[in-house]
Amino acid sequence: MAAIINGKEIAANVKAEVRAEVEALKAKGANPGLAVVLVGNNPASRVYVSNKEKDCAEVGFASYEYALPEETTEEELLELVAKLNADPKINGILVQLPLPKQICEQTILHAISPSKDVDAFHPENVGRIMIGDYSFLPCTPAGVIEMLDAAGVDINGKHCVVIGRSNIVGKPMGMLLLHRNGTVTICHSRTKDLAEQTRQADILIAAVGKADFVTADMVKPGAVVIDVGMNRNAEGKLVGDVCYDEVEKVASAITPVPGGVGPMTRAILMRNTLTAAKMQNP
Ligand code: NAP
Repeated sequence: MAAIINGKEIAANVKAEVRAEVEALKAKGANPGLAVVLVGNNPASRVYVSNKEKDCAEVGFASYEYALPEETTEEELLELVAKLNADPKINGILVQLPLPKQICEQTILHAISPSKDVDAFHPENVGRIMIGDYSFLPCTPAGVIEMLDAAGVDINGKHCVVIGRSNIVGKPMGMLLLHRNGTVTICHSRTKDLAEQTRQADILIAAVGKADFVTADMVKPGAVVIDVGMNRNAEGKLVGDVCYDEVEKVASAITPVPGGVGPMTRAILMRNTLTAAKMQNP
């Protein structure tokens, strides 16, 4: 039976470290803050935003919520982003995705000042991650690395297979594993004989967005399996991409859903906001 890598516990430790540093910053007179921008009425986005506000309260950040109506124009949102870029009490800016269809997400993400881009989605930050000279790491992939470290999994020299190549998870995940000397394979929907690839993995990371996608026959005995997926099954229950009940019998370690990568993503956002606050309050 696989060891369970407890994301909730590791995330609590990350947040405790952040909280201690926030207190130190406050003692020097700073009042670090994160702006969270929500456009429209997507219920899932609403939940994500209120979780981020809870996390801010927990670590001691001020949080500033900007809830805009569904019909907000791109120009109006750009105006708000420009205002937040210039506001010294805002250290980090997060625009919750997805945005309504009249707004180009790229245009908005590119307008956020790279020094306040706590999601690390701005092309300058993406490029810096590529060359290994970064201030912010993308929250989910950085959370996965933190979990592997906390679980004592050595990445160095290991064959790491990532399923998924999105800009927010798969691609940066591959890059961070490469920076840690993993030998990386990135798979996607056009990969031929996926199971043949995944069975090579010492560390297998699933970021597909399909419930029960990774089955036991796709996993090498003893592999470490990280499940990034967040899907709703037929009963409306939150499940990952990995068929947990069968894969945990084959893997040496596995992350649960919920309580795995999700809490880590939130914790790393807090760490990135701290990094931004420190950069802006040298
Ligand atoms: P995405 O943009 O939809 O990307 C999914 C990736 O999976 C794509 O690269 C796609 O390949 C690949 N894929 C789809 N079907 C496949 C198949 N049959 N075989 C191999 N690859 C296949 O999703 P995402 O934003 O990366 O998110 C992935 C999952 O992680 C979702 O469940 C999301 O909710 C979850 N997520 C969780 C967190 C967290 O904090 N836990 C954070 C972010 C995302 P192509 O590129 O070829 O289409």
